[in-house]
Amino acid sequence: MKAVILKDKQKLVVEEIPVPVAGDNEVLVKIRAVSICGSDLHIYNTALFGPDLVMGHELSGTIVKLGNGVEGWNEGDDVWVAGGGPCTRCLECLRGKYDQCTDFKIIAAGDYQGGFAEYIKVPYSFLSPIPNGVSFREASQVDTLGIAFRAVEIAGVGIGTSALVLGGGAIGLYAVQCLKAVGAEPIILSEPTQHRAELGRKFGADIILDPSTENVEERLMELTGGQGADVVLECAGRPETVVGSITMARRRSGTVVLMGVCLEPITLIPWEWVERDITVHFMNGTGGDPIHNKCLKSLEEKRFAIDEIITSSITLDELPAAFERLVKPNDEVKVVVEFD
Ligand SMILES: [Zn+2]
Ligand SMILES: [Zn+2]
Repeated sequence: MKAVILKDKQKLVVEEIPVPVAGDNEVLVKIRAVSICGSDLHIYNTALFGPDLVMGHELSGTIVKLGNGVEGWNEGDDVWVAGGGPCTRCLECLRGKYDQCTDFKIIAAGDYQGGFAEYIKVPYSFLSPIPNGVSFREASQVDTLGIAFRAVEIAGVGIGTSALVLGGGAIGLYAVQCLKAVGAEPIILSEPTQHRAELGRKFGADIILDPSTENVEERLMELTGGQGADVVLECAGRPETVVGSITMARRRSGTVVLMGVCLEPITLIPWEWVERDITVHFMNGTGGDPIHNKCLKSLEEKRFAIDEIITSSITLDELPAAFERLVKPNDEVKVVVEFD
């Protein structure tokens, strides 16, 4: 099968490799759509998980082969594939505490090869059915949408909560839509790229700030009577936005959710954080099936603008060039590889 292999830092090559064989409790999925994640760009730049890696963990497809022991699925089922999942066999899993699994497996980071390929094998515990009327490309967005969904849920956003979103990439723009859906006001988006800022406004951001031309913290304080935002969602993954997220949250009652991938060090003065007396959540991923199911349901109900967030649809052969483009300044949001 055709697969795109990360040979080394910033070196992606299209190659022929054997189709994987589904083992016990695994299925072989023919991939129909796979979305490029911001974390894929970090892995591309750093080769964090070593050479000869197939990246890609935001995917949907059709089951073409069942391994031994697979229950509840059939060949031909259309599925959304989670980027990772519980082992189902450790003590925590046997107790039903799947989110505390001690042997949680991840796609495209060593445990399983990823989805920038024609086929993938995964444990059947990673699968969810794609609801009627939801396309493969829409389903490929569940992972990203789920992160925004969970952040808004964790932050306890309600009607009239003031919210600042730092970064208008895919997660930030889904977050704006989620905030709007639950009645946050005002929704303030900080994003320097014009196209993404325009999408943010379209999706419900009341105020757009441009960090390349204005001091976001000063502007936020003017807008909130010097108080800061009730909720700050850090979706940019930049040292300055991570540090700034804390000092922009409302003193004594604010909540910050850090979810951006930032691999650079930050300098912080601990007292500046402690004296805010706020709640900070470090959030990694969607947290599992309860959120996935809500996202799939929301896609079925067409509650979010997906098509405008997917700014390009490409083929597997075009993937290396897309990565070269995406690591430079650009105005794309989500790029999805689609198969006939
Ligand atoms: Zn992802
Ligand atoms: Zn487990």
